[in-house]
Amino acid sequence: MRLFSTTAALLRRFDRWATPALLVVGAAVLVGETMRPLRRRTRPRAERWSRNVGLAAPSLVGMRLALLPAMVGLTQLAARRRWGMHRLALPGPVRLLAELLVLDYVAYSWHRLLHAPFLWRFHRIHHIDLDMDLSTGWRFHAGEMLASIPYRGGVPALVGVRPVTLLLYEAVFEACTAFHHANLRLPFGLERQLARFMVTPRVHGIHHSVVQRETQSNFGVVLSLWDRLHRTLRLNVPQQHVTIGVPAYADADEQTIRQLLKLPLAPRRSWASLDGSVPKREPQPLPVDELAE
Ligand SMILES: [Zn+2]
Repeated sequence: MRLFSTTAALLRRFDRWATPALLVVGAAVLVGETMRPLRRRTRPRAERWSRNVGLAAPSLVGMRLALLPAMVGLTQLAARRRWGMHRLALPGPVRLLAELLVLDYVAYSWHRLLHAPFLWRFHRIHHIDLDMDLSTGWRFHAGEMLASIPYRGGVPALVGVRPVTLLLYEAVFEACTAFHHANLRLPFGLERQLARFMVTPRVHGIHHSVVQRETQSNFGVVLSLWDRLHRTLRLNVPQQHVTIGVPAYADADEQTIRQLLKLPLAPRRSWASLDGSVPKREPQPLPVDELAE
């Protein structure tokens, strides 16, 4: 068995069921955010969508032809060598739950690493989008996909996650990424219930705020549990007070596909706006773990 195969049977099966399922989720999110927008747009949709799709294309190719095969190959290697959980005789449901929790914690911790100086070079391309909607959920630099291979493939392999669970989680990860980036106004009561355990559009909107302290919050992908445990949860910022983006990159003319593809090589900028001002927010009346409307 080869370590790296883009046509492994598991991946072909993933293509057959996950791709149509994710297209349905994407279409539902698109209809929802068009009919019930959460935040007011600051830029024309066509301008951002053409750029975001232009960035998503190489990134999705990188995911399908490099990240997924590498993650599957590494977890298959771990199964043959009986690493980690492969040595434990756990009951099936317990094993599955443990694997899914490990994978979601890997996603959370990888996202925190993306905000550290070196990986921010790539991840800032995602964050400097001037509005946030479904298309932001695909707007990643292909380099970020490739850079994630050792961590997102290596840690699950060492822990002994099975390849089939890894692909199942990957589909959930992609569906949740589409959902929480959506500019979708859910009924507030419903979203407040959902936000108790998972990442929702209002929760992730705070992570894309121009206020740096808010960007350093809400790193979760599926569950909000990890943000609660690590005290990085921040729910109390009203969505109409959230401005999306990074102050140092507020100029839309700097965000062509070509400039964004080259951005990892450019020097990092401080957080401040080009006029030197730094967005701040007064303390909020609600406790930090209570969702604001
Ligand atoms: Zn981020």
